[in-house]
Amino acid sequence: MPTPPLAGGTAGPTHLRPLIDTVLTALHDGATRRNGPLPAGGPHTVTQNLHHTTGPLIPDHGTGAHHALRTLVTALTEGAADPAHPHCAAHLHTPPLALAAAADLAASALNPSMDSWDQAPAASALETALTTALAAEIYPHTPQPDALITTGGTEANQLALLLARERHGPVQTICAANAHHSITRAAWLLGLPQPVVIPAPNGLMDLTALRHALIHHQGPLLVTATAGTTDTGQIDPLTDIADLTTTHNAELHIDAAYGGPLLFSPTHRHALRSLHRAHSVTLDLHKLGWQPASAGILAVPHHHDLHALHHHAPYLNADDDTDAGLPDLLGRSLRTTRRPDALKIAVTLQALGRDGLADLIDRTLTTAHHLADLIDKNPTLELYDRPTISTVLFRPTHTDDTTVATIRRTLLNQGHAVLGRARISNSLWLKATLLNPHTTPDDLQHLLTLVTDTHAHTEATTEGSTPR
Ligand SMILES: *Cc1c(COP(=O)(O)O)cnc(C)c1O
Repeated sequence: MPTPPLAGGTAGPTHLRPLIDTVLTALHDGATRRNGPLPAGGPHTVTQNLHHTTGPLIPDHGTGAHHALRTLVTALTEGAADPAHPHCAAHLHTPPLALAAAADLAASALNPSMDSWDQAPAASALETALTTALAAEIYPHTPQPDALITTGGTEANQLALLLARERHGPVQTICAANAHHSITRAAWLLGLPQPVVIPAPNGLMDLTALRHALIHHQGPLLVTATAGTTDTGQIDPLTDIADLTTTHNAELHIDAAYGGPLLFSPTHRHALRSLHRAHSVTLDLHKLGWQPASAGILAVPHHHDLHALHHHAPYLNADDDTDAGLPDLLGRSLRTTRRPDALKIAVTLQALGRDGLADLIDRTLTTAHHLADLIDKNPTLELYDRPTISTVLFRPTHTDDTTVATIRRTLLNQGHAVLGRARISNSLWLKATLLNPHTTPDDLQHLLTLVTDTHAHTEATTEGSTPR
């Protein structure tokens, strides 16, 4: 076999073009064969089909580029839970914009690595410009805010707790029961005391409980609040929380992984008033930012807040290189080799502009309200609450948790819909997390019909047993 061509250089594009054509055809064919939001049949069938169509993954003799691309991309697409389908709406699992995916191809072809300037001359300049601009959106009132690009909210939250630990020693984290699980994990990973978890009745951090915790726990204290909770998409009362942390001399981290991009919408940004009062903010653009994974941000009010991450490795940032003007990038992450995720984000922001992004956000939130309206009007369905962002919880009226769980799994197994689940106030709800700006009212009505039909069928066929 001839030596396979490379993606870069002047010859790279010529070699890439026919391969991409094969990939695009495979994406199309796989989606056509699936013909729905996810493959039918459940885990066993999907796994069997995948093994059957792909054959041995490490054959003695290679099958060639086009064959392997066609086989594996078609199989992956056919078996995908595709967030571009309006009935794939369980999680904060975004349908990426085509332009962002196209930009990501360039990132793969060029393969800049963000750990040293000599691997990423222009990419590091682009990343710096982008993180500076994003940090200024979050912290418009400080002269030198800064932001790091992360693999997502999990890494950003970890870094936030790490930075707090480096400022103050073993900080005691206080979060509410609605906080993302990555807060507790970060404390565990960093050797910090287990977070004090205060109640979140109605899905929001309880302010009386917070005041109590701030008075009764020994400092240094770090409160983490959530702007866009995982279960309900609610936003903690950020101003009150910021006031309490100021009064009690505690620090504040806001996990705005989900809700943060509302900043870009003049219609909705008021929901994030006081975001800038946090010592650090997590934001994900692979949720309400329509980026392929990953595209996370950790923002801080002052550039020097990131000093603790500075790290020295003579082959990447020798002092004399840094003195001679080579940017020192190693302290921009805990990772070493790192993808230029800034490229797809910058392409997206520039292509859409503020008004284009605001339009996508507004459209998505409107879709969620529309779904809530349809549920409200349907006497066989119960709405948990009006959406704050784009999460809508509902369940059939007069049902039990087992039936709710069965409806969800039935829709998954049939390949008809991907809905999430959330346990709130001791009941199980179906969760629709709407992120697809193309979803139409008809799509939403159809989704509800799938649920009510499945419910009726479940009721008719079970006397306590689970149908397949
Ligand atoms: C999604 C999410 C996270 C985790 O982010 P990843 O990007 O999945 O690592 C953390 N916190 C909140 C509030 C989230 O919505």
